[in-house]
Amino acid sequence: MENDKEKFKKLKISTLLDLALIVPTSYNNTTLSLDLKVGEFGTFEATVENVNTHNGKLNVTFFLPKFSKKISSIFFRATPYHYQLFTKESKHYIQGKLEQYKGYLQMSQPKSIKEIGKIIPKYKSVLKQSELVELVSKYVNEKNLYADGLDSLEVVTVMNLHFPKEISHIMEEKHFKQRVIQQLKFIEAFNHVKKLRGKRTDYPAVRLLDGDISSFTSSLPFSLTKEQQTVIEDIQKDLSREDKAAKRMVVGDVGSGKTMVILASVMMALPHKSILMAPTSLLALQLYEEAQKHLSTSVKIVLVMQGRDSDDYTDADFIIGTHALLYKDDLPEASLVMVDEQHRFGTRQRASLEALVSNGEKRPHFLQFSATPIPRTQAMMQSELLDVSLITTTPFERELKTQMIGKQDFPALLTHIEKEISCKHQVLIIYPLVEESVEVPYQSLEESKGFWREKFDNVYVTHGKDKQKEEVLLEFREKGDMLLATTVVEVGISLPRLTLIVIVGAERLGLATLHQLRGRVGRNGLKSWCYLFSHFPKSERLQRFCETDNGFDIAKLDLKFRDSGDILDGTIQSGQKFKWLDMTEDEEVIERAKSRIVGL
Ligand code: ADP
Ligand code: MG
Repeated sequence: MENDKEKFKKLKISTLLDLALIVPTSYNNTTLSLDLKVGEFGTFEATVENVNTHNGKLNVTFFLPKFSKKISSIFFRATPYHYQLFTKESKHYIQGKLEQYKGYLQMSQPKSIKEIGKIIPKYKSVLKQSELVELVSKYVNEKNLYADGLDSLEVVTVMNLHFPKEISHIMEEKHFKQRVIQQLKFIEAFNHVKKLRGKRTDYPAVRLLDGDISSFTSSLPFSLTKEQQTVIEDIQKDLSREDKAAKRMVVGDVGSGKTMVILASVMMALPHKSILMAPTSLLALQLYEEAQKHLSTSVKIVLVMQGRDSDDYTDADFIIGTHALLYKDDLPEASLVMVDEQHRFGTRQRASLEALVSNGEKRPHFLQFSATPIPRTQAMMQSELLDVSLITTTPFERELKTQMIGKQDFPALLTHIEKEISCKHQVLIIYPLVEESVEVPYQSLEESKGFWREKFDNVYVTHGKDKQKEEVLLEFREKGDMLLATTVVEVGISLPRLTLIVIVGAERLGLATLHQLRGRVGRNGLKSWCYLFSHFPKSERLQRFCETDNGFDIAKLDLKFRDSGDILDGTIQSGQKFKWLDMTEDEEVIERAKSRIVGL
């Protein structure tokens, strides 16, 4: 047993179904062939009729009694072993590919096998073939598979794959193969969901929250979208429970109106306290401004961030801040903790966040907001660990055109930029690097800024390592015409006058990043443009990106192009890799897997 544990570890697996899913990659069929099929692999009973050597090659003529035919075989690199084995009159079971040359049957370098009548699975694994076979024989059996929740058809399929009796049971007919793959997909999804389900732990809430939100919604200058309302209802249900603290992730594209969901949640929490954490001071400030604008003046809101004397927050209803919040030891206990732009926090900050909400027996309700759309399939998987709500639409249609451009389009681009700036709109140009590099065939921020400053006034420059970047962004928002930057602007600040973005070397970025960047323009319904400047105008990935605006569809595309060679940054989350399951389309399979588990 101990030993088996080691082997499981080596295989990086932990469950019986993990093992069952390591299916053979091929089979060695040693049943005797019923006919002589040229071009196919066969196994035959054979007697050596003649042996001779010619130019160092061993030439053996076999007689196949069943077919009364002769076949000749050449062994190019014959060893003493071959000479001993194929002596005249000796009997064999030979195996190899049957060929025909000038009307004569041939089999090049056949193997002489000892046992016939078997179909021997061949596995690809880190273990030795025999070790794996031993493990599989020990654990993969009908009883265990049933006990793990598979149905009879799936059990038969798995058993046939590992212990085939007839080759036709495995892979021969096409529709049959398709069915096997469907079942493997299901088993893979089922196994994964089962593992996740075991991992969710819930705690009782500090208290239930059921504050009235109608005064808030009725005072808004617009009505909430259907999806905003649905998410708010989901959250109302979560917060109205005392036995279980909420644990929900709200995923919505940039501009889908998540802030309103945050504010509605604050209203539900009243008269108790809410805390909201944002990844940057700029974003915290923006949220603070929005909260002040849309919440009634009777709600006491405070902003906590570095370099700003925070008001006394002990009697605040709603505390907004950056991760500086994590280091306050006098933070009052909140009943609701929220994190905006969750995807922007580093792993370490996420861990301390967890700590913020995991003191004691009872936990505050915890809501996270993310603007990195994930495919529905992934959301379905993730929802095993925490509840997930998706906002897939934006409150207003954005008039946004995405287009690939190259060197030859530069004059037209210049004209367009001039036109936007003359309308008091703003332009953003994203460079792949700050400094010049031989590895990157595009201009850098430093190389280009002189050019733009000569042509235009009010050109601002910032990048990820720029200590002043928040100040630069704030000043640009008010006074700038053009901003040159690296991908720092990804952080969700809103620049309402921004209508044109150029992304230089677009093929170097993941689709999720491109989509985030594109989300910066046209936030207030102004007609906008996103230009992807690239030396590779034929990139299918980028062309598809141009045609797709919905973040959830982008996430799907991203999965599809995951192995695409032209992505250099690390923005694509590695995620779970599946062997059979296709995360771009197998929603229905995951659905079934999830409902089977409910029934268990
Ligand atoms: P997100 O945080 O999801 O990126 P925001 O909450 O910042 O998006 O909303 C984007 C813009 O849409 C804001 O200007 C906001 O005031 C506006 N907005 C939000 N909900 C609605 C709505 N239901 N109808 C019209 N505009 C809305
Ligand atoms: Mg937001």
